Amino acid sequence: MQSLIDGVRRFQREVFPAKADLFTWLSTAQHPTALFIGCSDSRVPPELITSAEPGELFVIRTAGNLVPAYAPGAGDGVTASIEYAVAELGVTDIVVCGHSACGAMTALAHGHDLSAVPAVAGWLRNAESSRARAESTASNGVEVADLVRWNVAAQLANMATHPAVARALAARTLTLHGWVFDIATGAVEDIGTGTGEFTSKGL
Ligand SMILES: [Zn+2]
Repeated sequence: MQSLIDGVRRFQREVFPAKADLFTWLSTAQHPTALFIGCSDSRVPPELITSAEPGELFVIRTAGNLVPAYAPGAGDGVTASIEYAVAELGVTDIVVCGHSACGAMTALAHGHDLSAVPAVAGWLRNAESSRARAESTASNGVEVADLVRWNVAAQLANMATHPAVARALAARTLTLHGWVFDIATGAVEDIGTGTGEFTSKGL
């Protein structure tokens, strides 16, 4: 914990003064251009990967970068954050970012026993379609790296079920992107929107 406290003090001493004008501007409003949905994994920090400044990214992080399909009346935090980012803040792009060595995807691909973490098991049911797609293309067991890609594609599809997203896509004011971050190399792969074949290319 002490390292976090020391970090706050270093931020206040060194980082904040250098960005004081930016924080003054941000103190009354935010105008992020993108909603970034990544995994809660400690190794995948959205702002660091994208070199984004405060105010640029509206961020949601969940285990496995999962986005539940829209359920009327559910009132969950992910749905509320998506709606706010798109309908109120007017972001023009949404990135769903998976990553290598994802614990959630590894548990799914390898069928780990999750009985000791029932909330995790329940949450990962949001990736059942991801696993089904990966299994349909695998001849010899599901590879984690393949499941990571199929999962990003599936979460983009889930994203489009949210009414605010559907409206913005119809109005062509919003674009969806699927990325995969490789922890070992820092590479970011753009897998396209996940409809049909992947159109993988490095960024
Ligand atoms: Zn992960």
